[in-house]
Amino acid sequence: MAVKCKKCEKFYKNKEGANCFICGVNKHMECDVMFHSSKAKHPFTCDMTLLAIQNNHLFFICESCQDAKTNPKSNSVEYVNNELTQKLNEILKKVLQLEEKIEEKGVNTKGEKIESTQMSYAKVVKIDLKNGRSSKNINAMEKVRNSIDPQKLQASDMRSTPNGGVTFKCQVEKEQDIEAEIKKKLGSNFDVKINEQRKPSLRIYGLYDDKNLSSQTLEDMIRTQNSSLIQKTNSLYVKKVTGRKNNTNVKTIWIDCDVDVYRNLTQAKAINIGWSRCNVVDGINPMRCYKCSRYAHKGSVCNKPEECCPKCSKNHLLTNHNDEIHGEEKKCINCLDANEKFNLKMDTNHAVWDKTCKIYQLKHRKLMNSIIPEN
Ligand SMILES: [Zn+2]
Ligand SMILES: [Zn+2]
Ligand SMILES: [Zn+2]
Ligand SMILES: [Zn+2]
Ligand SMILES: [Zn+2]
Ligand SMILES: [Zn+2]
Repeated sequence: MAVKCKKCEKFYKNKEGANCFICGVNKHMECDVMFHSSKAKHPFTCDMTLLAIQNNHLFFICESCQDAKTNPKSNSVEYVNNELTQKLNEILKKVLQLEEKIEEKGVNTKGEKIESTQMSYAKVVKIDLKNGRSSKNINAMEKVRNSIDPQKLQASDMRSTPNGGVTFKCQVEKEQDIEAEIKKKLGSNFDVKINEQRKPSLRIYGLYDDKNLSSQTLEDMIRTQNSSLIQKTNSLYVKKVTGRKNNTNVKTIWIDCDVDVYRNLTQAKAINIGWSRCNVVDGINPMRCYKCSRYAHKGSVCNKPEECCPKCSKNHLLTNHNDEIHGEEKKCINCLDANEKFNLKMDTNHAVWDKTCKIYQLKHRKLMNSIIPEN
């Protein structure tokens, strides 16, 4: 249905309008809508809206609301801040609902069925422009979409990366074949990296072990004592074993495994190891920098000038945190960042790894979706 724009007085079509993030009114994008995110300067199609919500970029604000928010003389700044916080929470809720819907239907966002067994040998392909941000005139996603045949690479789930590249999943087994095909089609302007799809992780706790069993022994015990849950062909790898602080004979085990094993063990909730019945919980954790406590990069490539404690967000590493010196009050740097960036008022009095942290929840959810199909 066509809607009349109050500014230009022309009728505009659905796809030329957008609902304001704050007032919810449908406005003519050409005349009236400010895109809060610089990444979102295009009209939204259904798919793009979904992508924008998933990537947390969906912040278009109509001109009058934008004025109210940025004009210091206006009294509505407070009001707009509260509205923004509320809207963010609604969006978070919607993302969860959308994902639940997707799960119900057993399809991914493109409507194709994903076989869970395929995921066990999936590769993640990352394509970046060679000159990085400087070559803005080349659109990597468009280029990939136009030149690479997804059927040939058995590719799916293409996403854009913050620095203008793309990632997608690919089911071709040999890395050389993937790389050759991409180089042939894209030419030499792009860097191509291929990684194994990250495996799901589990945390198994409550094992009594006073002999300090090796990782290999533990793996064998887990396999033989739980053979109804783990097939011989399944991969399972013990990556870390720790002892409890007050009793080092009580161990916690971290494993990486296939999606099937992850599903079976989390459903079973407990497994047998030696004489112990051990609890099993999800162990998937988004990558977080040990220096600055932000997500999606490692400490070895961190470019933040200062260390930031994940507990109190003061300038020191977690290993140097001391309640007596730095205080017991917790402060989450990721929520502080988000509040500043989006003018929100999210609670910040928690550690960055707190399960109630909205940013942790988003990152964890996103990672779960990329590791476990139809989650
Ligand atoms: Zn207009
Ligand atoms: Zn508005
Ligand atoms: Zn960092
Ligand atoms: Zn601290
Ligand atoms: Zn803002
Ligand atoms: Zn937080």
